[in-house]
Amino acid sequence: METLLKPTLYTSEGALLGGRCTCGHVFFPMQGHGCEVCGRHGADLQPMALTGRGKLLSSTVVHLHADKARATPFTIGKIALTDGPVVRTLLVDPVQQIAPGTEMVTALVPVGTGDDGSAILDLRFKPEH
Ligand SMILES: [Zn+2]
Repeated sequence: METLLKPTLYTSEGALLGGRCTCGHVFFPMQGHGCEVCGRHGADLQPMALTGRGKLLSSTVVHLHADKARATPFTIGKIALTDGPVVRTLLVDPVQQIAPGTEMVTALVPVGTGDDGSAILDLRFKPEH
């Protein structure tokens, strides 16, 4: 038994829950407020599962965080998803420098244990190979 930390953002298969406008613009996360390209809203914006794949644009290792309770170091990456949107996200441990251009895929990693003893999973990205 596993639980997703943010089930509104991704699926247990590692797909990202984004959306698509009738103008063709793809975005993440899903929202119904308005398309940032054409301004359409409501039914013109439909949910779309994005493949959890993309190319790393840049990454950085955070050694000191403003929140002292936050364990460091950890790695943040900027990824251009195959479906279009660019996301800023956590990369899997161990902390490492990954070359820009590296193909990345989603990975669900345990980040805690729920009250019922089940694993709580959160989404990260890791190099495909
Ligand atoms: Zn649009």
